Order: sequence, then structure tokens, then C-alpha cells
Amino acid sequence: MIERSNLYGRLVTWPKTEPLPVDCSVMPTFIGKRCQRCGQDNRAALPGNHWYCLACLKLGRVSTRDVLLFLPEPNDFPPVAPMTWRGQLTSRQATVSQDLVQSYQDHRDHLVWAVTGAGKTEMLFPVIDWALHHRGRVAILSPRVDVVLELAPRLQAAFSTPIQVLHGQERIPYHYRQLVLATTHQALRFRQAFDLIVVDEVDAFPFRGDEALAYAVSQAKKKEGMVVYLTATPTPDLLKRVKHGQLRQSYLPQRFHGGALPLIQVVRVGDWRKRCPRRLAEAVKHWQDTKTPFLIFVPEIKDLVLVEKYLQDFPTLKGATVYSQDPDRALKVVKLRRGDYQYLITTTILERGVTVPGLEVAILGADEGTFSTAALVQIAGRVGRSKDRQDGLVLALVQEQTLPLRRAQQQIAALNQKAQGH
Ligand SMILES: [Zn+2]
Repeated sequence: MIERSNLYGRLVTWPKTEPLPVDCSVMPTFIGKRCQRCGQDNRAALPGNHWYCLACLKLGRVSTRDVLLFLPEPNDFPPVAPMTWRGQLTSRQATVSQDLVQSYQDHRDHLVWAVTGAGKTEMLFPVIDWALHHRGRVAILSPRVDVVLELAPRLQAAFSTPIQVLHGQERIPYHYRQLVLATTHQALRFRQAFDLIVVDEVDAFPFRGDEALAYAVSQAKKKEGMVVYLTATPTPDLLKRVKHGQLRQSYLPQRFHGGALPLIQVVRVGDWRKRCPRRLAEAVKHWQDTKTPFLIFVPEIKDLVLVEKYLQDFPTLKGATVYSQDPDRALKVVKLRRGDYQYLITTTILERGVTVPGLEVAILGADEGTFSTAALVQIAGRVGRSKDRQDGLVLALVQEQTLPLRRAQQQIAALNQKAQGH
């Protein structure tokens, strides 16, 4: 039996042949050829002239054999205590957070363009607090499970109301909660539920270019609700919407500690897949001597083993390899953060979300297609994030200089110049 409140603002698939679990509203899974959960026309056939949606299959099958159940969001929440977070925002962070509260009151969507390490999470706390206090329902969506897992304890420490965490690997049953922290895909399971939706890393895979997810966010928001888009590298489309007045924008070119973004140091090397480049060995030796934690990025999964072999010349160093489908991915990141590991060799999967004080990075094959301008800016943003260590090495090893790499260097220089100019 489904708890009635578990359908508030939700969209649940239900077999047509089964009696309804509670008294609720029902809508078809498809209108014409279009899936009503994700808005896409991307179908596969089933026997008996039925079909199902391929576009949102990741969240379970929606087929013409099902219906979608929902109940309107009643905002049936007990009063919440004010946030327990007592940290200080810098004056520029405070300005952004006031802008956000204003946009919430005006029911306007808002883009926050903040460099990596600007302290964007804390900037959100006042608008979340405002919404919760006014009985608004709030969702914070991030494309990456790692980020959701990192954010959960920080958020729970700041707000006394219980948080529902939702992602593909979560086995805790769903409960009706005022504050939801989830991977972006989970928006597909909501309908006009949220007064405030924060979409983190809006430029990142899998949100970028995925129309089903953009549709899901627009559907999960209430008609009078507000979406906050967060990014360090906005897409041309978002900037166009700002220009046309559809989105308000706040801009934070400065890191929370006031320091500049580290520049990317580009070094030309020979074929690094044949032998370990001397410059990499020197950097690793230095990291070993100074006990500096580090990440080595590689273009492809098959490069992981190769670089792991190179590091066998440093037998006292402890570390591991990691890639997107690695079942121990989250644990390995925790080990790096705790200092059990000194390094990880990784695909671009760790370009975002990993914050380790004093971290430095090398990017092997930074001239290869996997490393877009945005990815390179994000990777550089892993470095120099703590007050005590505001700078650090970002070493790009290449066989040739490329346009995306040059653009990344230019973007970092331009952001640093803007940060100084204000
Ligand atoms: Zn669908």
C-alpha cells in the first residue's frame, strides 16, 4: 500500500491492470507518441501493439500498459526551525544570496555563474532557508552521485528539517519531505512539486544536451516556482537566455578566499603511452617528497593501467585508479579525502565535485578530444581551494597545443582579471 503523502508532487508509474493504491489522479503515460514523464518521442515496441519510452528508461520502464499516478503538492509541512548554519558569507557571496532571495519572491529563474571554489553551496543557504521557512518545497539536483553524497551531510548540518536523499544507488525508501537532495534524473519522478529547484553544474553531463532532463526540471517545478542554475562554465544557451531577459544572472568571479584560479601549465612531451614522461616523473617525485595529494587525469579508461604501472617506480605512494562505472568510486574518493590514498588516477569523471585541501593535478593527453574547454577549467578548479593553499600545480602534458586548451587558459586568465577588477 502506498502512503498517500508519498504521492504528493510525485509521478508514479502503475500497471493499468492493478487497482489504484489510493484515491488519486491518473494520467496516460503517452499522449500521441510523446512520453508524459520525460516529454520525448523515443519509443521501442512491446508485444500486443504496446510500446515503452527509451528516453527515460534509466528510471524504470514507462509503457502504454501503465498509467501515471499523482496527487497535487499540498505543502503539508510542519513549521521548520531557522537554519543552524552560522558561517559567514563574503560580501560578494552575500550579494548573490540576496539576489536569489529576491528572485524567489519574484518567481524568476536565476543563473549563478561562480568560478570553482567560490563557495556556491553556502551562497544558497539563505534562499533555501527562506523557502523552507515559507513552507516551500525545495529540491537540490546535481548530475553526479559523488556530489550528492558529499553534499548530504553538509546540508543536514545546516538545516534541521530531515532531508530525502535520492539517487540510483539509494535503497532507502521514499518519504514525503520538504527538502530533497537528488541526482538530476530523479526530477523525472516529480510533478509540480517544488517551489525552489537548484540545478547544480547545469553545464555538466548528463544535464547538458539531455532534453528529457531539461523537461523534467520544468515539470518538477511548480508553475509559480523558481529554478536556480549553478555553473562555473555556462553554456551559450544559458547566456542567451540571460541576454533575452528570461534568466536573471549573478556573477562571482572570485574564489571565497580571494585568491586567483591556478593557471594551466602546458608542457609538450613525446608519446606518453610509450614511456612515462620525465616531467610527470619529476612532478610525482615532488608530490611524494612534499606529501601532496594529487590526481592524474587520463583521456581513456585503458590508460589507467598504463599510468598505474608508471607509478610503480614510487612504491611508497598509496593510490588507486577510478572511472565512472567503478563500483568503489565513492569509497576511493573518501580514501583520498581522508589521506588513506595520496593519489587517484582517473578519467574525466572526477573533473568536478572532488575537494581535497592542497590537491595538485596532472592531465596526461590534455590535447585529446575527451578534454573540452569546460572540463579543463573544471579540472584546474580542483586546485588551490583552501585558504592555506590558494595555489598549486595544474600540469597539462601534451603532444601539441590545441584550441580547447588555449581557450581554457584564456578563460582562466579572463576570470582572474575580472576578479581583480572589482
Ligand atoms: Zn519517457
